Amino acid sequence: MSGREAAIAAAQAHFDSGAFVRDLARRVAFRTASQDDVSGPALQAYLADEIGPTLAALGFTFSIHPNPEGRYGPFLVATRHEADELPTVLMYGHGDVIRGQDGSWTQGAGPWTVVQDGERLYGRGTADNKGQHGINIAALAQVLAARGRLGFNVKWLVETGEETGSPGLATFCEAHRADLAADVLIASDGPRQQRDRATVFLGSRGVANFELTLKLREGAHHSGNWGGLLRNPGTVLANAIASMVDGQGRILVDGLRPPPIPANVRAALAGLSFGGDAGDPAVDAHWGEPGLTPAERVIAWNTLEVLAMVTGNPDFPVNAIPPTAKATMHLRFVVGTDVARLRQAVLAHLAARGFGAIEVSEPVVMAATRLDPDDAWVRFTLASIERSTGRAPVLLPNLGGSLPNDVFADLLGLPTVWVPHSYAACCQHAPNEHLLAPVAREALGLMAGLFWDLGEQAATLPRRR
Ligand SMILES: [Zn+2]
Repeated sequence: MSGREAAIAAAQAHFDSGAFVRDLARRVAFRTASQDDVSGPALQAYLADEIGPTLAALGFTFSIHPNPEGRYGPFLVATRHEADELPTVLMYGHGDVIRGQDGSWTQGAGPWTVVQDGERLYGRGTADNKGQHGINIAALAQVLAARGRLGFNVKWLVETGEETGSPGLATFCEAHRADLAADVLIASDGPRQQRDRATVFLGSRGVANFELTLKLREGAHHSGNWGGLLRNPGTVLANAIASMVDGQGRILVDGLRPPPIPANVRAALAGLSFGGDAGDPAVDAHWGEPGLTPAERVIAWNTLEVLAMVTGNPDFPVNAIPPTAKATMHLRFVVGTDVARLRQAVLAHLAARGFGAIEVSEPVVMAATRLDPDDAWVRFTLASIERSTGRAPVLLPNLGGSLPNDVFADLLGLPTVWVPHSYAACCQHAPNEHLLAPVAREALGLMAGLFWDLGEQAATLPRRR
């Protein structure tokens, strides 16, 4: 058996021995629900008593820092430095979880106790994110044990506020740029594209929410006396929205459309299908931008949605012309969309069509990121995982959903490679959250293979400094 094979086997034996699940159970028992104000001590303890000491045993030095935005949870930074000439990998995880929803679990033994039932490991945070960063820490440990050193430097950043929108993460990273300097980010969160296929994703779509408001007058007016004399704001707003996105979901505002899909993004998505699992809604075949595949529509294109819309009182309609109408709009967008000019683009579009009276709010934005699929770190990761699992992983240029990857990609300037260890039906924000045992076992092996190869190929991997 080669050293590489031995490290992978040891990582899987770590699962088979029950040691991985024991570690996971200890971590899940910390009630780190960041949405609950009483969780402060648990968030601190998770870093100080669990993750910090675990990493210290692997030769890391660690420090815990208060959140620069005050009342939110702390950050852990840990470093294991082998040599200046070696590449440095930044790893990321979040120790907080969403609320336990203790009364609503129908499987396992509630949120704070790990119970295995068949292939499922139930417990809050097993999938999001304690199980995932736990797999990566354990895989590092196995490679370190097998080789005696890693052959690269590692830094860990663990935050405890991800489930409340990562407050302070950008400010913290800005202030600790030097401590967090690295050559690449390798992290695990979110689902695989299909449960049985390893997946690599390189960023995420962004989100911009904004409101359209049309207030024409004070108070409603009787439709018999005033209908035909007064403009109806509901009618006007509905037509304005129809001018922005048509009845098939195609975006009609030039400034909200993405640039053409790059050829290597299109190639990565060829043959991928989304949905189709039990409980999934049926995909609408002719929705969205014409000429695109469903995979291109959800990953490589923008969507403009109406999240909510109101005029009058829908629960108690009266025969009157309402005075106002309002809609909350929602853009999911890919890299290359000029979201900084979103409001101007929408205002200009509406004004040109006679809808200039509609107010457009400043959008609330989370940025889009996407590493080039041909980046050398991507090629390295794909090749390593294929070698370990015998099958090419799915490459998603970005997730359809959103995560604060811009902090790593834009603020810290890192190539970002994500290797998720969960799957879409893991109930990560619901009762009965679980990690799949076979996926966890495979993930331990493929991460050990990845870390093994990183040490082996350290001299040839791209460097930032
Ligand atoms: Zn989450």
